[in-house]
Amino acid sequence: MTKSTNITWHESTITKHDRRAQNAHSSCTLWFTGLSGSGKSTIANAVSNELFRLGINEYVLDGDNIRHGLNKDLGFSEHDRTENIRRIGEVAKLFVDSGKIVTTAFISPFRSDRDQVRALFEEGEFIEVYIDCPIEECERRDPKQLYAKARRGEIRDFTGIDSPYEAPKKPEITIDSSKVTVDEAVGQILNYLRDNNII
Ligand code: ADP
Repeated sequence: MTKSTNITWHESTITKHDRRAQNAHSSCTLWFTGLSGSGKSTIANAVSNELFRLGINEYVLDGDNIRHGLNKDLGFSEHDRTENIRRIGEVAKLFVDSGKIVTTAFISPFRSDRDQVRALFEEGEFIEVYIDCPIEECERRDPKQLYAKARRGEIRDFTGIDSPYEAPKKPEITIDSSKVTVDEAVGQILNYLRDNNII
């Protein structure tokens, strides 16, 4: 709900299409979703490195960093998780407007939240990347020791333990990080971007 009145949206004279033309590549959001420890950050950063190396304008929005700043007023209740994702979606849209390929690495467990973000974008701009990894493997990796804490009851509402994860029904890209290497995952995503004339 918009609380301010008397505000208008200003179209800048330079459009998204002008910026894309100058960049010589298109812009989009690579929206990673998956359980904690599934490999979102690892693969998102590896994709970002590869895009950067190719001279492509890119940026990564990573979970913990956003929660340190923009969303530091939000916790992990259902309401706050939804608001967290809504704000990140709006920021991602600004990046796409600026001509960049923006990669986001958030659990984003609720399908309706992700679909709401998708609705902000034009056709083809929102690419849902499902990092599909069995929870047993995520828990075995436990890179931040969060599953251990959740099992001890030190973290509540932990996705996969006592809060649900709703897998995407029709993600543009699915990667099983228990079966492919990080390099293979990067290759799969880069191929998608090439096949769809984004890069
Ligand atoms: P998330 O961002 O989803 O919470 P992270 O990327 O922080 O996950 O952690 C994933 C962990 O799994 C890292 O320690 C990473 O090195 C490890 N890992 C092992 N195999 C893979 C793979 N194939 N893809 C991604 N991560 C992997």
